[in-house]
This record gives sequence, C-alpha cells and structure tokens, in this order.
Amino acid sequence: MEQKTIEKLKAELLLKKERLEKELSGFATKDPFLKGDWDSRYPRVPEGNLEEAASEVEEYSTALPIEHSLELQLQSIDLALDHIAKGTYGICEKCSKQISEERLLAMPEARFCAECSSKI
Ligand SMILES: [Zn+2]
Repeated sequence: MEQKTIEKLKAELLLKKERLEKELSGFATKDPFLKGDWDSRYPRVPEGNLEEAASEVEEYSTALPIEHSLELQLQSIDLALDHIAKGTYGICEKCSKQISEERLLAMPEARFCAECSSKI
C-alpha cells in the first residue's frame, strides 16, 4: 500500500478515535490503570431516594452495552494505529495476507481480510 494511502487512513483513524473518546467520556471514565478500558460511571444516589436510585441504575445498565461496543471499536482503532507505527498495517490477523485497500478505505480499523471476516 502506498504511504500516502496509509497516512490518509491514519488521519481517519485518529479522527474516529477522537470522536469515540468524546462519546465515551460523556458517560464513562477512562480507566487510568488499564489501557483502552473505560468504566461507565456508577450513579451516585442520595441515600433514601429509592425512586431516583432505580432510574439511575437503569441508566447505568443501558450505558454498559454501549460502552462495551464503543470500547471495542476504540481498541481496534488503537491496534490499527499500532500496526501503522510498526509498519505491519493492513495485514490480516488470521491468514497474514494483505487486506485489500478497498476494504481498508471503507473500514480503516479492519483486522481481518474479507475472506476471514466472513468466516468469523
Ligand atoms: Zn485473512
């Protein structure tokens, strides 16, 4: 792949990363000890207010799956950036073949080639 294309994809990845982190920081806190891990803030509820407690807990449980999915996207992006830095970007993690440029342009954080990802 041309360096120019990689640079373009890298810029896109960084932009995506920024967006995801912004979205996550709306309801979760970055785990200072675990790289790439975010924790949904557990609601602090004033004591004795059961009704409020219930709705806050409900909010927390809806946030969790969203947090998880954003976190996974973020991890793939970090991984892709890591590969770019090491010069191994665009290689399928499963079969070690080059992922097609077309596919990477559509999804810069792709970890598998089209063939392997259809088997997952
Ligand atoms: Zn593959």
